[in-house]
Amino acid sequence: MLQKVLIANRGEIALRITRACKTLGIKTVGIYSDADKDLMHLRFVDEAVCIGPGASSESYLNIPAIITAAEITGADAIHPGYGFLSENAEFAEIVENSGFIFIGPRPEHIRLMGNKVSAITAMRKAGVPTVPGSAHAVTTNNALAEAKEIGFPLIVKAASGGGGRGMRIVERVDTLLESVQAAQRDAEMWFGDDTVYMERFLQKPRHVEVQILADGNGHAIHLFDRDCSLQRRHQKVLEEAPAPNLPEQARADILEACVNACKLMQYRGAGTFEFLFEDDEFFFIEMNTRVQVEHPVTEMVTGIDIIEQQLRIAGGLGLEIEQADVECHGHAMECRINAEDPSNFMPSPGKIEHYYAPGGAGIRLDSHIYPGYSIPPYYDSMIAKLIAHGKDRKTCIARMKQALEEMILTGVKTNIPLHKDLILQDENFCAQAMDIHYLEKHLLQKLEGQQKEAS
Ligand code: ADP
Repeated sequence: MLQKVLIANRGEIALRITRACKTLGIKTVGIYSDADKDLMHLRFVDEAVCIGPGASSESYLNIPAIITAAEITGADAIHPGYGFLSENAEFAEIVENSGFIFIGPRPEHIRLMGNKVSAITAMRKAGVPTVPGSAHAVTTNNALAEAKEIGFPLIVKAASGGGGRGMRIVERVDTLLESVQAAQRDAEMWFGDDTVYMERFLQKPRHVEVQILADGNGHAIHLFDRDCSLQRRHQKVLEEAPAPNLPEQARADILEACVNACKLMQYRGAGTFEFLFEDDEFFFIEMNTRVQVEHPVTEMVTGIDIIEQQLRIAGGLGLEIEQADVECHGHAMECRINAEDPSNFMPSPGKIEHYYAPGGAGIRLDSHIYPGYSIPPYYDSMIAKLIAHGKDRKTCIARMKQALEEMILTGVKTNIPLHKDLILQDENFCAQAMDIHYLEKHLLQKLEGQQKEAS
């Protein structure tokens, strides 16, 4: 088993990984930037190393500094968390070539899935259903012919894309070429790779994803599915497990297809297959080769500690869970709590004054914040994940509402009102899962209308 893990991340996920290591008796090394001396997990780790200034590029993305920190502390493995270097194949390679264990998939699989064109191609071969589209690079030369095949509306996406950035919806043929060019420029700017591809733009899909675990030697299982359709600017705001109202056969088929793909690839570690789900059909969009922000909802319904499993697999203990052992109990939901102004979504860094963490039956709060903690301006604005679990979706929602009522957080602005007063008050959402446009096109517009009226 692993002896000492360096946690190459910050915030709530660094604390989450620290906790998992400690419960398994694994020693921990925390890293932090100059702006992050007060991170909560640094109080619990065995050793902590400052790796550079506040800017991520000089600290949490600084590969030589991270490898040096692992060397001087004698760590044997590195957990990348999510974001930062977690899906950087070169980093995984350097970690392994420097003699450390990378807690994640093999670099070749990170690379394969990091490029959406190669990911889609691999999934088609493995029998996973994908969105009708090009599955190869599109330029102004072949765009027209491709678009004829796909039909309008279509979406132009960056092959190396992530974080919901650089996608362009094309409604009509006359804007096609300029959209492809603009998408190429965006892709180059954001991801340093101007490769773009096109696929059918689905009008009202839900975002449904499948969590898997695999041992790297052909044993793979799924931990059921999640619905993450409530999004703003293609970024998830609220997630739940299992995905509500899925036809049982379609669910069984997609779970099996994902497990088979992992077996075929001999995939290692935790991963998520993301799909759009429309008219009872699944369409693969990408695979995330890391633990995801929303992993706790799956943990709540299956009782399986996903980070613990990542550590066990990386430590050579394999995957002891068989598919028949995995059961889904009740319903879980996660609200992402961000330090941001609810009226315009601008980040709201600063010092937390009062803080009261809600609790009670079925409530879990994954967060690194505390009264007096100053949220630095350099990083993602997510500061907490409030998770509720109940015997069914209705109970889960009731518990989440109560928890949001209880939660006190002052000093910075947060999106708690968005969850409490808008999403969880919405009858449609409380009755069923909505599509990926519902939050922006319906709920947020309703809110804007109310705000205008009030002013
Ligand atoms: P990223 O890696 O940038 O997050 P994804 O491919 O995962 O990009 O897509 C993110 C989100 O963008 C999806 O959850 C969905 O809301 C929207 N999206 C992506 N592809 C399509 C499509 N073909 N049709 C409609 N919406 C899409």
